[in-house]
Amino acid sequence: MSVDPWKGILKDTQRHSAYLRYFEEWEARIGSFLEYRLSQDDPSDSGRLPLGGVPFGVKDNIAVEGYHCTCGSKILKDFTSPYSATAVNRLKAAGAVPVGKCNLDEFGMGSSTDNSALKKTHNPWDVSRVAGGSSGGSAAAVAAGLVPFALGSDTGGSVRQPAAFCGVYGLKPTYGAVSRYGLVAYASSLEVVGVLADTVDTARRVFDVIKGQDELDQSSALYPGLSRDRGGNPGAAPPAASTARIAVVEGLEGLSPEVEETYRSSIDFYKAAGCEIQPVSLPSLDYAVAAYYTIATAEASANLARYTGIRYGYRDTGAVTMEEMVRSSRTKGFGDEVKLRILLGTYVLRSGFQDQYYGRAQKIRTAIRNDFDRVFAAADLLLMPVFPVQAFPHGDTSLDQFQQKLADKFTVAANLAGIPALSFPTAPRNGLPVGMQLLGPVFSEQRLFAAAEIHEKSLGGIPRPHGFRSV
Ligand code: GLN
Repeated sequence: MSVDPWKGILKDTQRHSAYLRYFEEWEARIGSFLEYRLSQDDPSDSGRLPLGGVPFGVKDNIAVEGYHCTCGSKILKDFTSPYSATAVNRLKAAGAVPVGKCNLDEFGMGSSTDNSALKKTHNPWDVSRVAGGSSGGSAAAVAAGLVPFALGSDTGGSVRQPAAFCGVYGLKPTYGAVSRYGLVAYASSLEVVGVLADTVDTARRVFDVIKGQDELDQSSALYPGLSRDRGGNPGAAPPAASTARIAVVEGLEGLSPEVEETYRSSIDFYKAAGCEIQPVSLPSLDYAVAAYYTIATAEASANLARYTGIRYGYRDTGAVTMEEMVRSSRTKGFGDEVKLRILLGTYVLRSGFQDQYYGRAQKIRTAIRNDFDRVFAAADLLLMPVFPVQAFPHGDTSLDQFQQKLADKFTVAANLAGIPALSFPTAPRNGLPVGMQLLGPVFSEQRLFAAAEIHEKSLGGIPRPHGFRSV
């Protein structure tokens, strides 16, 4: 379903009360929102706007004026945002209505949303399983049909992986294509605000509204009208999706049988649709996780230094000196995974050791970029799995925190290179969704949408979890 049927849902009394009931029934089961308000009116002239009256969710590390912005952390549990992120403001100007804040792994650190200090979120397909992360609340809310789309953030896969776990679309845009103003920083050189959506059409329309330069974010880019190369020169017009040259990675290891079979059948699908399949190797992929966690933790250690309990956030009032207050506010306010990453980041940046860790990670980052450049010199798109396994059960027994990090292999590469990637749902296996992703050169989002759309059409209706109704 595209966003149109949602127009005015908050205003039409009959539809609204049915929507409220549906929302609350599902929400009680999956816990996707940390806070929501469904009673507000949508703007009166919303019918004429592109997303007039369409409700949406916002990951709780993205600011919405008047709502909390907890980042899933005890340290920001009582913080209310005095302003809205640029992406949120652009959506509001297009008529869309933010209805609440979605759960996440604390500060976006994780792959399950179980690292939230505030709430458990469950997968709508099977509530004993995680929704993925870190934008797990956003993905679960869209999958259950509570909202047609939600904003998320993707630093190393946090939009695409939960989208894959919940059976929805997940766009990680080109770095800089969407303003980060109002996104709470985790690893600034890697992250971007992205979209979780029920259909390709919804994802495309939302991206169209939120993309583009913003004077409040120096790293935001003017979005070119035509596809352009890395130097900003106009490139060739986008190829027709059905004749695209699609690179596929040979010899991927460690995939579950379900994900491996789906990867093969997706390759077969695009071949049958008329695409030219090009097997490639991506040698740098083996080092991507190490480089990602070195760079991400280094940046996190600096970005999270601002939570001292002095100007905002949790403050331990029992302390006597200021130093004690800062130390104990951080000790009590941050969860274990966040502390681990601050320590790791401080370790890799300590004086005299930068060459050994951070410098090397930057070299791998360049190698990854070069690998992608080589692939996209001959191919229009690259098809890859999103995550080696389907949604796993809650708890550390199925995939511990370290294994979860290793499993980020297929998602982190796009962040290290700054290129766009779109995760799309395929036919479920064993009753659970499987997601694949398409990647392309910078600013090739339209190409990704077009290729995902021919696959979407072939599904004859996107599979939805049991109990899903169209609102
Ligand atoms: N799982 C990755 C991490 O924990 C991705 C996080 C993200 O994209 N925010 O860092």
